[in-house]
Amino acid sequence: MSSSNIDYEAVIGLEVHAQLLTESKAFAPVSTEFGGSPNTQVTPLCLGHPGTLPVLNENLVRYIIKMGLATDCSIARKSIFARKNYFYPDLPKGYQISQYETPICHDGNITIKLDDYNKDIGITRIHMEEDAGKSIHDQDPFNTLIDLNRSGVPLIEIVSEPDLRTPEEAYEYLKRIKQIVQYLEICDGNMEEGSLRCDANVSVRPKGQKAFGTRTELKNMNSFRNVERAIAFEIDRQIDLIESGGEVVQQTLLWDANKMETRTMRSKEEAHDYRYFPEPDIPPVVVTDEMLSEIRESLPEMPDVRQQRFADEFGMSEEDARTLTENRYLADYYENVLEYVQHPKAVANIILSEVLRVLNEQSIAIDAFSISEKRLAGLVELRENDKINSSAMTEIFDAMLDEEKSAEDLAQEMNLMQVSDTGFLEPIVDEVIESHPDEVARYKEGKKGLIGFFIGQVMQQSQGKANPQLVRELIAERLN
Ligand code: ADP
Ligand code: MG
Repeated sequence: MSSSNIDYEAVIGLEVHAQLLTESKAFAPVSTEFGGSPNTQVTPLCLGHPGTLPVLNENLVRYIIKMGLATDCSIARKSIFARKNYFYPDLPKGYQISQYETPICHDGNITIKLDDYNKDIGITRIHMEEDAGKSIHDQDPFNTLIDLNRSGVPLIEIVSEPDLRTPEEAYEYLKRIKQIVQYLEICDGNMEEGSLRCDANVSVRPKGQKAFGTRTELKNMNSFRNVERAIAFEIDRQIDLIESGGEVVQQTLLWDANKMETRTMRSKEEAHDYRYFPEPDIPPVVVTDEMLSEIRESLPEMPDVRQQRFADEFGMSEEDARTLTENRYLADYYENVLEYVQHPKAVANIILSEVLRVLNEQSIAIDAFSISEKRLAGLVELRENDKINSSAMTEIFDAMLDEEKSAEDLAQEMNLMQVSDTGFLEPIVDEVIESHPDEVARYKEGKKGLIGFFIGQVMQQSQGKANPQLVRELIAERLN
């Protein structure tokens, strides 16, 4: 990792913001629905007008406790909100309501899995806060436009211990957070759309040194890959700097995804003093035993447990179980297909090969996939009952992507139903045998492998529709 003989190691801590899927805002009874016309989901409360009083959305508390419990956090029985003061055009109130000294969740843990090892990453804290509005710089040539629909939308901030050591670990950690919030259904986990946002703190130190090096903070990475790339870039930059006699300066850097490099946003001297003080209008958040146990009971089956169950119950490999449970909705899709057809292996196979291929090609999630669980089950059923062969299955699958028809209808229409009718197949078998006397002779001399050749001929003449198993039987009958 270096030109001198010092070996460096990186130290990384992530701060992740997740936008919660509550129906209304954190402190005001206003819709959080995405995509409304600008400034239509705003009340005087969102603007902090005098005389308004915020009221805490109980679901915000429930959602963050779910996250805390799912990541082995301790839950504070009493925590308070604070005002984080700063001026910005998209923050007309002049402050953001946030938790500061007393986060509701703290001292947790998330296990990440890499190819060769598992690792526990400490969670320092998870706290509640509200989002600011949105400044739009690219729609008017002369002015910045402000949309306040997002102001007051509830967020949780998940702060990790500086336990991550490589860009790959940071990537896995982030994927894990996405998986957990999706399983809990508290956030859609979409980084590209900004419902999951990540700041990365990065420093380097000579391997074996205990003290941390000076860190920089990276912002503006709007995809999982960009987080990984930005961290890798920053590690190299810091090492090169130190190797050439320079010093890392504590600062905030912006990742430029086009240029694939970071640039300075602000240095430590310009760092904000937020003048935090307790929010006087919101009483302390008190978590009771009843609330805790009720939320604990409402937790869904989490990914690790589900993965193990898939392996046990459906007899699949650990890797397949992991792929199928990586995304909650893919795992749900799989289990829903099994409501209609009882072939867990065959269903897993077509999802792992064909369905995932299509999701990948079209860059869509399973909820946007065009083949319903019931229709996919119909396709698997046809194949498992030997009504179609495997190449027909792929053809029908592709047709199903574009047409809202059942597998059976398409198989008929495309003339792909496998023929198991001996009256139709026998004449073809006879003809193939008659027209290949040489092969028949060699077969009878012991070249039994030639049966494949005869099957192939019959399949060709039946345009791929013959049931190969039956064809094999008919040929063997004739030749033996
Ligand atoms: P701030 O309030 O300035 O954001 P925090 O102490 O809350 O600072 O830390 C923010 C993040 O930075 C945490 O995820 C933490 O693990 C990480 N961090 C702290 N020190 C370092 C360091 N020397 N190198 C890398 N990451 C660090
Ligand atoms: Mg920070």
